[in-house]
Amino acid sequence: MNEFTYTAAKDPASAVRAGVQGSFIAGGTNLLDLMKEGVARPAHLIDVNATGLHTIDRTQAGGLLLGALARNAATAYHPLIRDEYPLLTAAILAGASPQIRNMASNGGNLLQRTRCYYFYDTGVPCNKREPGSGCPAVSNLARQHAILGASDQCIATHPSDMCVALAALEATVHVESNSGHRRIAFAEFHRLPGDRPEIDTTLAPGEFVTHIELPPAPQFVRHCAYLKIRERASYAFALVSVAAALQLDAAGRIGAARLALGGVAHKPWRSARAEELLVGEWPEPAAFEKAAAVLTEGARPHGQGPGSNAFKIPMARRAAARALEMAVRGQTTIIPGSGLEGVVA
Ligand code: SF4
Repeated sequence: MNEFTYTAAKDPASAVRAGVQGSFIAGGTNLLDLMKEGVARPAHLIDVNATGLHTIDRTQAGGLLLGALARNAATAYHPLIRDEYPLLTAAILAGASPQIRNMASNGGNLLQRTRCYYFYDTGVPCNKREPGSGCPAVSNLARQHAILGASDQCIATHPSDMCVALAALEATVHVESNSGHRRIAFAEFHRLPGDRPEIDTTLAPGEFVTHIELPPAPQFVRHCAYLKIRERASYAFALVSVAAALQLDAAGRIGAARLALGGVAHKPWRSARAEELLVGEWPEPAAFEKAAAVLTEGARPHGQGPGSNAFKIPMARRAAARALEMAVRGQTTIIPGSGLEGVVA
C-alpha cells in the first residue's frame, strides 16, 4: 500500500474544503480493498465519519432524507424505510454480508467501484484502471459483465443492489462542493462507460455526497419485489437483479410501474417505454413478458466460450417478468437458495 496522509473532517464544510485534494473515506469497505490491491493510490484520505450525516429524516414533501454516512444496515432496518420503502430494505439486505452492511455507508454504496476481476488485477490491462491500456474482459471471462449500455472500451457493471432500488424509487442525490449545493437525479448520477470508462459518476472533482432523498412512494409499498440471481447462495454480486414496483388501481389494473435491472450495465438499467407499456394492463404474465422484452432490448453478449455472458440476456428477461409477478403477490424479497425469502414481507 502506498503512503498517504490522513485528516478527519468534523463537518460537511471541512470535508468539502479538504476534498479538493484527496479521497473521502467512510466505511472503507471498497476503498481499502482498492488501496491494498494497488488499484487506488490516494495521497490524502479525508475521513468523513464524524461529519454528522448519519440521520434519516422526514422531508417537507413527505419523503425521506438519508444521510450519506448512515450505515447500510441502519438504513435497511430503519422503521420508516421498512414501512414506507420495503423495496429499498429488500435490496440492501440482498447485498454483501451483515458485517459489511454494518460498516458500509449509503454514500459509499453509490460510489463503490465495479467488481470486474481484471480491474482488481494490476497484472493485466484495464481501461478503467489505466485508460487506453485495453479491456481483457471483452474477449475472455465476462460472466459478471454487462449486456446493456457497454462500450468497446469497457463492459463492467455497477455492483450495488441498493442503487437498483434507488433507481426504481427515483431518488435524488444531494452533493456539496466549494461551488455550493447541487441535486442530481438518480438516473443521471451513474454514467455509461463510453470512451471514458475511468469515470463512474457525474460528480465533479471535490463534490461530496451528503444525502440521498427518497420521494414519497406510498403507491409502491404493497406491490414491490427485489429479485437477485447470483453464482452462489450468499455473499456474491448479482448476475442479474431486478427491482420491481407496481401500483394497482381499484379495478386491479396497473396504474404505475417501476422496473430496474442490476448486474447488467455500468449503472442501474431502466426503460421508460417498458414501464409505460405496463400502465393500464392487467398484472398478468403476458404483460410482464412484453415489458421485460422491451427492458432488455439491445442486449448484447460479451466474453468468449464458457466465459460468455450470453446466458444473461434470457436470464434478465425472465427475472424481470418474475420480479413483477412477485411484486403483485407482495413477495418483497427472494434470493433463490439464500434463506432470505420473505425477509421483509
Ligand atoms: Fe477494465 Fe472495464 Fe474491461 Fe473490466 S470491463 S477490464 S473494468 S475496462
